[in-house]
Amino acid sequence: MKEVIFLLGGNLGDKAQNFKQTTELIAENIGEISGQSSIYATDAWGFESEDIFWNQVLIIQTQLDPIDVLNAAQHVEQLLGRVRSGEGYSSRTMDVDILFIDDMIINHERLIVPHPLLQERRFALIPLVEVRRNMKHPVLNSSMQELLDQCPDKLEVKKVK
Ligand code: AMP
Repeated sequence: MKEVIFLLGGNLGDKAQNFKQTTELIAENIGEISGQSSIYATDAWGFESEDIFWNQVLIIQTQLDPIDVLNAAQHVEQLLGRVRSGEGYSSRTMDVDILFIDDMIINHERLIVPHPLLQERRFALIPLVEVRRNMKHPVLNSSMQELLDQCPDKLEVKKVK
């Protein structure tokens, strides 16, 4: 059994409904949900958008191999109707990123774990600190709290009530 930590992100449509549906699909397709952070709201990162982003960390126990976790996560994104609009950042119904799989280090052409940008993003670190404050990043060798303290990103991240 492996522990997968996902970051959900979305800024389009009925976000409360989309997050609920994504959580249900992940539980059905990937594995049992053993933990989750609050949902946080952040201004869009890297591009302008009128719709504020929501993010949430989910912790899953799964029997699947890492690539099958990625395939299943991308299937969930498609079911939620994500529209890809070329390179870079864009608005989307639901983005499911893999932040960690146990303390595995993966450098595959389709999958990099730990997620290579998590330490640059307060919207990933703040929910991670809520659920795994003292967990060590297996490459950077710092805790989630230490990564947040060092994070240069200044975007405001607020809990959604
Ligand atoms: P994005 O548009 O940010 O959702 O990126 C999706 C692409 O990133 C896909 O082609 C994935 O194969 C690739 N990818 C690499 N590492 C990861 C990861 N840790 N989690 C999710 N997608 C990843």
